Amino acid sequence: MINIMKDIYIQDKRLWQVWPGKNRFCCSGKCMTGPKSDLLYYIPSIAALIVIPNTFFIFAAPYIWQKVTVILPILSVILYLLTLSAYILTTFTDPGIIPRKTITEIIDHESSKIDIMSIDMSKYCSTCQIFRPRRSHHCKVCDNCVEIFDHHCPYINNCIGGRNYIFFFLFILNLTLLCLTNIAGCFIFIFHDYSISGPAKETFIKQGTVSLIIIVIIIVLTTMIGILTTILCLHHICLCFTGETTKERIKGEDIGSHCYFCKKKPKKFDPQQILTEEQFKKIVEGPVFIEMSDNENSVSN
Ligand SMILES: [Zn+2]
Ligand SMILES: [Zn+2]
Repeated sequence: MINIMKDIYIQDKRLWQVWPGKNRFCCSGKCMTGPKSDLLYYIPSIAALIVIPNTFFIFAAPYIWQKVTVILPILSVILYLLTLSAYILTTFTDPGIIPRKTITEIIDHESSKIDIMSIDMSKYCSTCQIFRPRRSHHCKVCDNCVEIFDHHCPYINNCIGGRNYIFFFLFILNLTLLCLTNIAGCFIFIFHDYSISGPAKETFIKQGTVSLIIIVIIIVLTTMIGILTTILCLHHICLCFTGETTKERIKGEDIGSHCYFCKKKPKKFDPQQILTEEQFKKIVEGPVFIEMSDNENSVSN
């Protein structure tokens, strides 16, 4: 019985398997992310996010916990977990992709239909062959139109749009606070030890020269990241008040009466949607695949 069910599942053809954009899907279409071309930026970012805070936890946090206060290491761990969770959610959440005309025509799914009232007739996307809703833009990297498009972030490996903006904002906010906490922790680690006189200081210097060098490196790297994220965080806090996206702010576009946060859009397609043999064939053989020469990247296991 289990084998029969397994065979039926394997035979199902899903929308994510024939997706015409450059986005990649994982976990059988449950999660989606940006194209492979971002990995050059994404891998160093995730490595820095894992290595730098964990080096702080290994070298500085135990000393602060034992000799100064338990509050700072606990706060740092909480902020780190929040930062990492927000980062993963931003990377693997659909930013608000609008399916191309070919997809909506073949599938005819209720959720994929664009609200006529929101369409801007002066904004036609020749790749997706649709009149785009207001505030949406075509991301050249992902090769899809995205609703309430903010920007494409290669360090996150995804577009930042109406559906994942809140996770992105929480990521930069928590990362900024994490940087400030860890820099404070590093300075406490250095100066608290040097304030101790007598044998304790000698013990620290003997055992801790390597630790001290590592902590100085952490301070330099965390300060560099902290300055960038603080600027980014302040920029997005300003945008929260004006209701604009980064693209609208740069281009000076009028956003009308639409509010950035109040209008969270529902998902416009289901990557796990089961396709009929005919629908699968139409999408594979249809004009979308003929127009896009390098779409092999869009299908990933
Ligand atoms: Zn488009
Ligand atoms: Zn993108």
